[in-house]
Amino acid sequence: MQSRSERFAAFRRALKDKGLKSTAQRDAIAQTFFATTRHMSIDDLYQEVRKANPRVGYATVYRTIKLLKDCELADERHFADGQTRYENADSEEDHHDHLICDKCEKIVEFNDQRLELLQEEIATNLGFVLARHRMELYGICRECREGAGGGRRRPER
Ligand SMILES: [Zn+2]
Ligand SMILES: [Zn+2]
Repeated sequence: MQSRSERFAAFRRALKDKGLKSTAQRDAIAQTFFATTRHMSIDDLYQEVRKANPRVGYATVYRTIKLLKDCELADERHFADGQTRYENADSEEDHHDHLICDKCEKIVEFNDQRLELLQEEIATNLGFVLARHRMELYGICRECREGAGGGRRRPER
């Protein structure tokens, strides 16, 4: 796992490569993003960044997250609800997949080596060299099944 400061250094290099200046706003956006373990929509990130720097505009958040995605620091996720979300990109050794609750939209991360190996095996048998995969399992979480009308009021991402 890359440290937060390594990610930030990579972000600075990416800005430079694109001929963009590092600004207080862009830095605040990147720092906020690197500090989170959540799966955030652009709007979530915008709300969060504004706590640190109220002058940050939505368009800047939008462009910065696209840049983070371009330089592979952010992974874009499309879960079934149609909302695009971003999370810190996996390094190779800490890849994870997702379980998503259809009711409260809670997202749980997991990693299972058996599944990873099986996917490799299936791909190899079908003549593929695997570059990436996306595994999303949907269902109803325990809290939602047990609670009377239960689950959390606000989905945790
Ligand atoms: Zn649930
Ligand atoms: Zn995730």
